[in-house]
Amino acid sequence: MNLKDLWIKSLQELSKDVKRVNLITWFRNTAVLEAKEGKVVIGLPLPTFLSWHESKFKDQTLKALQAVDSSVKEVEYKVELALAEDERTIDVLKHFVDESTPRKLPNRPEVKFKDGTVAKQVHSRYTLENYIVSDENKLAHAACSTVAKYPGQNYSPLFIYGGVGLGKTHLLQAVGNEIKKNDPTKKVVYTTTENFTNEVIQGIKTKNMESFRRKYRTADVLIIDDVQFIANKDRTQEELFHTFNALHEAGKQIILSADKAPHELKLLSERLISRFGSGMAVDVKMPDIETRLAILQSKTQEAQVIIEPNVLETIATKVNSSVRALEGVLTRVIAEYELAHITPTVDSVEKLIGGTQQKGQLQKEVQEVPVVRCHVTLESLLDHVSGHYGVAKEAILGASRQREFMVPRQVTMYLAKYSLNIPLSKIGMALGNRNHATVIHATTRIAERLQFDRQLLRDINAIKKEAGL
Ligand code: ADP
Ligand code: MG
Repeated sequence: MNLKDLWIKSLQELSKDVKRVNLITWFRNTAVLEAKEGKVVIGLPLPTFLSWHESKFKDQTLKALQAVDSSVKEVEYKVELALAEDERTIDVLKHFVDESTPRKLPNRPEVKFKDGTVAKQVHSRYTLENYIVSDENKLAHAACSTVAKYPGQNYSPLFIYGGVGLGKTHLLQAVGNEIKKNDPTKKVVYTTTENFTNEVIQGIKTKNMESFRRKYRTADVLIIDDVQFIANKDRTQEELFHTFNALHEAGKQIILSADKAPHELKLLSERLISRFGSGMAVDVKMPDIETRLAILQSKTQEAQVIIEPNVLETIATKVNSSVRALEGVLTRVIAEYELAHITPTVDSVEKLIGGTQQKGQLQKEVQEVPVVRCHVTLESLLDHVSGHYGVAKEAILGASRQREFMVPRQVTMYLAKYSLNIPLSKIGMALGNRNHATVIHATTRIAERLQFDRQLLRDINAIKKEAGL
């Protein structure tokens, strides 16, 4: 067996134990470099991968290798920067990790009704595909998928319940989106309970319940979010009861959400509660830490930003109240990065999470975080670059044109020019006595690559942070 096949098969084994998101994050650009006398050397594309592999994946990796080749006895790691751009190592993961699961939002055409009724448009940001499924919500997700495929046939009403910020609205709107996508002629009406209540009040006031009824009773799919807010509102409950019956008898689909199971809802009429519970009721709970990590990963991809995995893990570990809170922290981290150029680190997000928890809210404006600028010299920059890439300073200054030395060298020049504002001729002289044209070439090359090379962007951000730039 060649090394590539050995690795593909082992990764296949690993994928049984290691979550997809971890596999994609930590095994991308990896390869088996050598397999001799029971020792397998695994190449990692970055020094930062080392500790993760050593501490988290080593045992599993060994087991997986042994499952494929029983003569394997030990695993060793070696950092090979060149792997980062090696197309073949990216291919390896593609063999079995389905990366086509939508991360970027698909363009869904908006569908409008022709019969004049205006219903709140379903938010196309929410889809069933970008809802991350875990043990805590898989039943709800499965029920929603079935309803999306066969509205009005299986589970009506479908009742989704659970605490705040756990994805109920997401699921409800996703079903609405999906049904409209499958059949644009279907009339999908989404409303919040608050909105529904207001329309009832309006109808009573203007003595025009007709248009209200026309709107809701002609729906093929009626989605009402947060029905717990109907508590104590007798007239609205009555309208909902009749609407419910009309649609139910006509074989239409009803989807509801609430913070509690139907029978636990207080101050609702008995007959309404029994209707709510007459179809399928499923709950959503707070996802476990690995799912939280997967959600963060997926949201960063949607936002098209790269954040260090250990930073994401910190967020996933510390924020365990709701998915919405999780997203709130991520949004702030991204905002701080984009607006204030603060590269997220474990420390910075810990501070941010601590701060938001104290404040008890996440949606505050971007906080002013003082940036301490210390005096950074070319010499200390060189230390940081050398440390980050795990390449000796002498090699950076030396003449080798090997990629693993070239990249750190060019990065040093780039940062020296743009972050330290050192004149080109001086940079050249200090970095192995190179001429002015070489420095221009290097900095241009890095600037170009930063347009598409996220790994490079991530490295440079990390070095800047480490160096205090
Ligand atoms: P709820 O209606 O239960 O209060 P939402 O549906 O508004 O919660 O969810 C809050 C946020 O968390 C939304 O932005 C939603 O997209 C996101 N979210 C919740 N659960 C998931 C999940 N499993 N996968 C992806 N995103 C999720
Ligand atoms: Mg909601």
